[in-house]
Amino acid sequence: MTITISSGKSPRSYVDFPWLRWHEGFKLESRRHVDIDYWDQFLVLAEDGTSAQVYYPLDEYPELVFEFSKLTRVEDVLKFANKFGFIGFEYRHSGDASGESVSDWLLESAKIKETLEIWFATENKDRSFLRKVVRWDEQVVWAVNHQKIKVPIAWRGPGSVVFEKWKQGDLIAPARFYIQEQVNAGLSGTFSIRLSTTSSGEMAQHLSPVDLLSALWLQISQILTGQKKIRPCDVCGRQMDISENRSHKRVHDACSLRRRMAKYRKSLGSG
Ligand SMILES: [Zn+2]
Repeated sequence: MTITISSGKSPRSYVDFPWLRWHEGFKLESRRHVDIDYWDQFLVLAEDGTSAQVYYPLDEYPELVFEFSKLTRVEDVLKFANKFGFIGFEYRHSGDASGESVSDWLLESAKIKETLEIWFATENKDRSFLRKVVRWDEQVVWAVNHQKIKVPIAWRGPGSVVFEKWKQGDLIAPARFYIQEQVNAGLSGTFSIRLSTTSSGEMAQHLSPVDLLSALWLQISQILTGQKKIRPCDVCGRQMDISENRSHKRVHDACSLRRRMAKYRKSLGSG
């Protein structure tokens, strides 16, 4: 396996998270899934051994989590893997054969999609959406998750730190609490402390995700806390990262170019 460093960008802070990808390097294989005792498709590296490339997902793809949240089919998973590599299950499931389960991927994608959708709904005070997610009864507040399963998120009495604080029937605070706990689960145990050398030659300590999946949950956590600023593109509607003095930005560069080209072609056509 040959490893090359991409783009030569200098990594910084916990954006300093290198990951491997293999361009068009994956194929699907049917195999029994050890956890669910069920036949599943697995992403495995194709034997012909395309070379691996190191890249910096958090730095190079600030909106990657939105792309991941859109995976719904086997083909989507294969396409994403061919562009960005494994997400990390291969390393988490020790003892398992090589490869990553497509079901595991789709479950994570659904969780991430749910978290982002609920977050946008709380930001937009979309109560009709939130009523489908948050259910109150006398003693318990429930969340209806992405699999339509009711899970308790808070209850009256000892052991509950939030129930008494919420106004009966409130949708926003329980919804936020639910996604906060989802993000905490996504981030739990998936970071390590690393040292890196700064440009002035000193050593600096920082947190680094252990795999691409934890990096994706980190992107969500940055969105929820406002560290990462996002807004939808005026042209294509997909979310854009507008952190770092890019708050004036209203459209993707590529979308802006496409729009100008379309106007230009139209002017030729009508002229
Ligand atoms: Zn766009």
